[in-house]
Amino acid sequence: MSLIVHKYGGTSMGSTERIRNVAKRVAKWARAGHQMVVVPSAMSGETNRLLGLAKELAPERPDTAYYRELDMLAATGEQASSALLAIALQAEGLEAVSYAGWQVPIRTDSAYTKARIDSIDDARVRADLAAGKVVIVTGFQGVDEAGNITTLGRGGSDTSAVAVAAALKADECLIYTDVDGVYTTDPRIVPEARRLHSISFEEMLEMASLGSKVLQIRSVEFAGKYKVPLRVLSSFTPWDIPIEEEARSGTLITFEEDEDMEQAVVSGIAFNRDEAKISVLGVPDKPGIAAQILGAVADANIEVDMIIQNVGKEGRTDFSFTVHRNDYARTMDLLKEKVAPALGAQEVLGDAKICKVSIVGIGMRSHVGVASTMFRSLSEEGINIQMISTSEIKTSVVIDEKYMELAVRALHRAFGLDAE
Ligand code: ADP
Ligand code: ASP
Ligand code: MG
Repeated sequence: MSLIVHKYGGTSMGSTERIRNVAKRVAKWARAGHQMVVVPSAMSGETNRLLGLAKELAPERPDTAYYRELDMLAATGEQASSALLAIALQAEGLEAVSYAGWQVPIRTDSAYTKARIDSIDDARVRADLAAGKVVIVTGFQGVDEAGNITTLGRGGSDTSAVAVAAALKADECLIYTDVDGVYTTDPRIVPEARRLHSISFEEMLEMASLGSKVLQIRSVEFAGKYKVPLRVLSSFTPWDIPIEEEARSGTLITFEEDEDMEQAVVSGIAFNRDEAKISVLGVPDKPGIAAQILGAVADANIEVDMIIQNVGKEGRTDFSFTVHRNDYARTMDLLKEKVAPALGAQEVLGDAKICKVSIVGIGMRSHVGVASTMFRSLSEEGINIQMISTSEIKTSVVIDEKYMELAVRALHRAFGLDAE
């Protein structure tokens, strides 16, 4: 007998009909003799709907009291879908029970809207499994030390599922979603994208961190830390396909580089429209400038991604970096009102209409000229590169947002990823 964790995303839970289908699939696994824990997301659109209601009443403001209520509110989406799934499973003739994060409990820190899981108490879930029940645990949420409900950031149900699988030492964690696996890039942008049979953990980590929302980055980090066997697969196959077939479908995240793995130099292309670029022009070119600019940004709790400092000229230099688009207005205000005057900078410029496009592949380690192929194919499309950053297994560029799809398609072709 194996202990299996299933996670179903919002689209997979999107209607009572789909929830019934999920219940039938889970029942199939339970009847085959597996101990089953299921982690559902809220029904599709529900989290956006709830957060939209809050914004109608009061525009978002970065304060703890407001964020606490957002979590209180958003967590209800998963509570509803979990109870509905339990009801559907009971209707299938199985014993099923659902728990909200605080009931398990899944303990987190108090960083509302982006809390991190500290620990999971597995006693209650284990007792139910031993009694032959299917256990449903809400995705996306936990509880802090003071008993406040927290949420784990958008897409956080992936992380709940992997964390629950790690805590229970599950044999496998299956992430059921609305595509049938991890593709070379988002198949909704590039129809020629191909499904990967497997992807290395390191590549998946880069893809997720660079914008591929098929898995939340923290779920991949968890899987790596606790070596949770992880697979991404479709919830839209007929629920009654043979379990052996289902268990081999989709994309496996692998922890060892096995010989059979597709040996592409570039395995995938990720993109991210959530960033904005800010430049501080004409700052005095002297030691401590980067520390002063970025120090002030960090003190305001704003995360910085890419950073560039230009070569100085006549004692002055330019300094650019990117932040999350949600933090754009706040960062601009901070720089214009406080940092630039203090430094004697000449101008602060911002551009929220940028995007980051990245190529990812462990094959890049052993191949030279990969980045130059990337730059060449972008220049052939007339796309100007504004910023570049590289690491061992990825190269990212910042470009004008309006060229995003063109760039992703061109790179997909240039690196031989298009399906034949
Ligand atoms: P769920 O609600 O099941 O969590 P998400 O919308 O969060 O689903 O994630 C699945 C989506 O991720 C797909 O519909 C697809 O558009 C997108 N996606 C982005 N990059 C990729 C990729 N490389 N492979 C597969 N899907 C991707
Ligand atoms: N419902 C949450 C969201 O929409 C969590 C998730 O779906 O993973 O972000
Ligand atoms: Mg998701």
